[in-house]
Amino acid sequence: MNMNIRAGTARDYLESISKEIYSELPRDILNIVDLDLFGAEVVIYTLSPGKFADYYDKIRELAKKLKKRITIRTPNLEEIAKKNEEEAKRFEEVINKNRKPPEEAKKIIKKIIPEEAGIKKIVFDNTSGKVYIEAVKPGVVIGKGHANKIRILKETGWIPEIKRYPPIPSPIIWTIREFYMRDEVDNFRTRMLKRIAMKINIQSTWMIKGQKTWVRITSLGGYQEVGRNCHLLTTKESRVLVDCGISLGAPPQEMFPDFKIPEFNLEEIDAIVLTHAHLDHTGALLYILSGHSEYTYDGPIYCTEPTRDLLYLLLKDYMSLSRDFYLQVKLEDILKRIITVDYGTTLDITPDIRMTFYNAGHILGSAMVHFHIGEGFYNVAFTGDFKYDKRSRVPRLLPPADPAFPRLEALVMEATYGGKRDTASFDDAVNRLGDIIRNAYRKKAKVIIPAFTVGRSQDVMFAIRYLRDHKLIPEDIPIYIDGSIWEATAIHTSYPEYLSKYVRDLIYEEGEKIFDKNVFIDVHKDKDKRLEIVSEHGPAVIITTSGMINGGPIFEYLYYLGQDENNVLVFVGYQAEGTIGRRIQDGARTIMIPIDGRNTLVELKLDIETVEGFSGHAYRDQLENFLLDLNARRGQGIKLQNIVVHHGEPKKIESMARWIERNIRAKSIRTPNNLETVRLI
Ligand SMILES: [Zn+2]
Ligand SMILES: [Zn+2]
Repeated sequence: MNMNIRAGTARDYLESISKEIYSELPRDILNIVDLDLFGAEVVIYTLSPGKFADYYDKIRELAKKLKKRITIRTPNLEEIAKKNEEEAKRFEEVINKNRKPPEEAKKIIKKIIPEEAGIKKIVFDNTSGKVYIEAVKPGVVIGKGHANKIRILKETGWIPEIKRYPPIPSPIIWTIREFYMRDEVDNFRTRMLKRIAMKINIQSTWMIKGQKTWVRITSLGGYQEVGRNCHLLTTKESRVLVDCGISLGAPPQEMFPDFKIPEFNLEEIDAIVLTHAHLDHTGALLYILSGHSEYTYDGPIYCTEPTRDLLYLLLKDYMSLSRDFYLQVKLEDILKRIITVDYGTTLDITPDIRMTFYNAGHILGSAMVHFHIGEGFYNVAFTGDFKYDKRSRVPRLLPPADPAFPRLEALVMEATYGGKRDTASFDDAVNRLGDIIRNAYRKKAKVIIPAFTVGRSQDVMFAIRYLRDHKLIPEDIPIYIDGSIWEATAIHTSYPEYLSKYVRDLIYEEGEKIFDKNVFIDVHKDKDKRLEIVSEHGPAVIITTSGMINGGPIFEYLYYLGQDENNVLVFVGYQAEGTIGRRIQDGARTIMIPIDGRNTLVELKLDIETVEGFSGHAYRDQLENFLLDLNARRGQGIKLQNIVVHHGEPKKIESMARWIERNIRAKSIRTPNNLETVRLI
């Protein structure tokens, strides 16, 4: 029987998989009291989790067969007691009989796990029956072939969930982890996931009848421009929003995607999928979840785990700078809707769409998203922002994009650098930065680098570390880190498996010592320290937000250091139209910036440099190579029939489209405007 084409309602589906599961797992021995569908997952409720230790492989086989993640937990007794107090009591007795009390369980866990794992935290969650173990080396906790994990389950009766203890302390990661353990959050998510399950596990009418459907993309924002990215993907049965961004620096009427068109109804959206955390792909979440827009969204948000954490950081920073009341949201209202998905894991998100993320190489957690529509009917991928740098010798923060889509008919791609070929490589950029720092050192001057909190800052930090390690810059020049950059860096170190091999190995080997604290100095929120730095004689490098000089501590540094012609301001990232950064880059030497709450005219006499090559976007040659590499897989499931180009200035999109016309045999190449709909099939 094909478990993927479902017959009837979600209940019918649950019944059919229950049969399948109970034929493999003995209900009485395992004390299973219920089975349920949570989103795309199957949840088994048991009173004796420990017994599952002997059925670990069986569950893996079942998950493969059903193409579903299977998790076990204990029933939520508080919820059961609301309906049936006696049953809840009886369940509680059995559960307690079958597992060790927390104190005893803790001792057993510490005995099982070798010292070198570096266990930092053990937290028991009564509601789900899980024990959260945070360790410096989670792999050691899990053990070979999950051996330790299974032993913990067997010997304590608690279900282990193992997390990496962030090598650099990250308050945000702790806030988020603590948030998901709250009972009210668990209850909200249970209700949401059950609702999703009811929606996605139903019969797809057109699929069952063997009918054809259509697939359309409506451009709500980010077409023929950079900013407010938002695509609406529709099929006969699905409405999915891919990204939901704002345009920083745009006037209010052009800040958000065009949600007001008649055919768009937020309440009918099945899912929001985020490619990555940058605000031009996520900022409008504040608008649609604030309760101040006409409609509010009440569904799930899918992204990778690092994207979730970075999103929290970026939205928090943005809200603290923005005075618009309609952009003030409780971030918890976003967090509780987020369902994280790893690269390469395939998930049903609607009755006829299955989704998979692939590494995009742009920032930590960034993803290309692939939609598999209707059992082999049609495949479309959105690149999101991506980087495809396979040449640089200086090691980078992230590995290049990995578009390992098994099948493809349509590609929606970014073209930020779709214009003429750029020559600067990452290696050139790092060398140039080395020159600038050495020069400043000789002159005892300051190097000010405005950089985006996420991505560029870390790339620059690792580049500086590389230059130091190779003695290409003096060792005694301090590197000051301001804004939320240090916090973002801490989040990076929590996800080594998402980073390049070079950086991953550094984190494994050095942990929190990856950035020597005597050299890389975090001055976030320390105004006195900031004043000390600007009045101190001697050379220094200052990496600070914001990347396009439209807010943040960079203002103060320019105010205090901008008049000294020995100092240098170094641009390492894209400066959007309308930002102060762009005006300076275009030659402006007097700028008006707020200092201590007063608009102040500042004359810039310092040197101004732009170092090309650090960008997290694919340069023109990388865009071309990306398409050529995909095209080389023609005949292996990849057919580039439809290509849609967006996320770029009009001239660059045009130039990219011309190249595609000449070099890729696609049926159609389109460069829509905002609000156009493209029918793919
Ligand atoms: Zn981006
Ligand atoms: Zn973008």
